[in-house]
Amino acid sequence: MKYISTRGRAPVLEFGDVLLAGLAADGGLYVPDRWPVLSPEALEGRPGRGDYADLAAEVMWPFVDGAYTRDRFDELVRDAYSGFDHPDVVPMVELGEGLWLMELFHGPTLAFKDIALQLVGRLFDEELSRRSERVTIVGATSGDTGAAAIEAVRDRENIQIVILHPRGRVSEMQRRQMTTVDSANVHNVAIEGTFDDCQDLVKAMFGDAEFRAEQRLSAVNSINWARVMAQTVYYVAAATRYGLERASFSVPTGNFGNVLAGHVARQMGLSVDRFVVASNRNDILTQFFTTGAMAISEVHPTMSPSMDIQVSSNLERLLFELLDRDGIRTAKLLEDFRATGEMRIDARISADLGQNWSGVRVDEDETTAAIAQLYRDTGMIVDPHTAVGLAAAHRSERDPDRAMVVLATAHPAKFGDAVEAAIGTRPPLPPALAELAERPERCPRLPNDLSAVKAHVAQCSARAFG
Ligand SMILES: *Cc1c(COP(=O)(O)O)cnc(C)c1O
Repeated sequence: MKYISTRGRAPVLEFGDVLLAGLAADGGLYVPDRWPVLSPEALEGRPGRGDYADLAAEVMWPFVDGAYTRDRFDELVRDAYSGFDHPDVVPMVELGEGLWLMELFHGPTLAFKDIALQLVGRLFDEELSRRSERVTIVGATSGDTGAAAIEAVRDRENIQIVILHPRGRVSEMQRRQMTTVDSANVHNVAIEGTFDDCQDLVKAMFGDAEFRAEQRLSAVNSINWARVMAQTVYYVAAATRYGLERASFSVPTGNFGNVLAGHVARQMGLSVDRFVVASNRNDILTQFFTTGAMAISEVHPTMSPSMDIQVSSNLERLLFELLDRDGIRTAKLLEDFRATGEMRIDARISADLGQNWSGVRVDEDETTAAIAQLYRDTGMIVDPHTAVGLAAAHRSERDPDRAMVVLATAHPAKFGDAVEAAIGTRPPLPPALAELAERPERCPRLPNDLSAVKAHVAQCSARAFG
């Protein structure tokens, strides 16, 4: 399998290079040069019994064939999912009338990012040891990515990790999950700004070729192809393990990585009816899927901070598909969007998109109401991100004979305040979270200033690698 950039001007790479590169040299994102077809083994439905790690290795194998032996890859995948606290890794619960919740939060940081990052951390380490190389991973987080990335690479000898988060805009739990990790290779920075500011700082550091090479920068945020790849698996798992033919998925969306992975599974032959792209009041994607146009506005903080995003990086991969994989047109569209803050796609393309995508905006009151209603009806507690997905699913048109799967992206205890406001009681803290309150935090603050941040990153990697 070869990988090409969505902007058509970067070198064609193999999986191992794409893994370490993150962003392509032309500013685009790497995608496979063709979509492999799900094997009969991957599609074979064994309701309730399928082993997640086996399925995962089978689904992902075509993307990595050539980079590992099959035995080694199976081993890495098995190891990645061995630390999850549920034997099914991604268990599903039926809420009634064909509505399902798929729990993606059984990994070490209790959010869905673990599913991709526990694997990607291992793939990184493997690739770096093989090459006798070291990298400095730099990433921006709106909350959960940072914790999951740190957890995935802590104490690994070949990796330093520097994570920027917007100060005061992530929950206390999310912050503590990052800042209490006592590992010499872990460096957190609180930026005076928004998540988009953090993401822009990261992009600017990667855009500086000299700095990037000097510091051996690498990324594991959701632009990294390997993360999208790892996330395709649970869409296949939902369909095959539970025998859901042509289901729809409602996906709480921020950077568009999660739902894009569903699109990839569909490109590989999984039968899916519709993707509901669920947004909070940061509804730029709702505009896009309902009108074919979008305009950037400011980021509004909400109770689902991991979705407080205006520029969803992974949308570029979908745009590339919609433009018939024409990198030059994709580059132009994205560059104009950068310059003007506005984008409009062809009316024909937008009409096609409406066939199997919906954009739904869910405001704060509706999110709270969704948490409260589910609790009243079933006693179950969901986090506010999941609640956005749930409310969006309720609001979408649905074929009554087809299942709708809501992806539950975080454990409710990570967002205790929002949950308490909705149902009057706090979700019980799992042990992994309970002990965080006791631990000291380590986290310098920096202004939203590129040169200050660059100097800090250089210092972190120099201190570590000498
Ligand atoms: C990251 C995250 C999202 C958004 O996922 P994207 O892949 O960025 O669209 C939703 N919910 C939670 C809890 C998250 O951590």
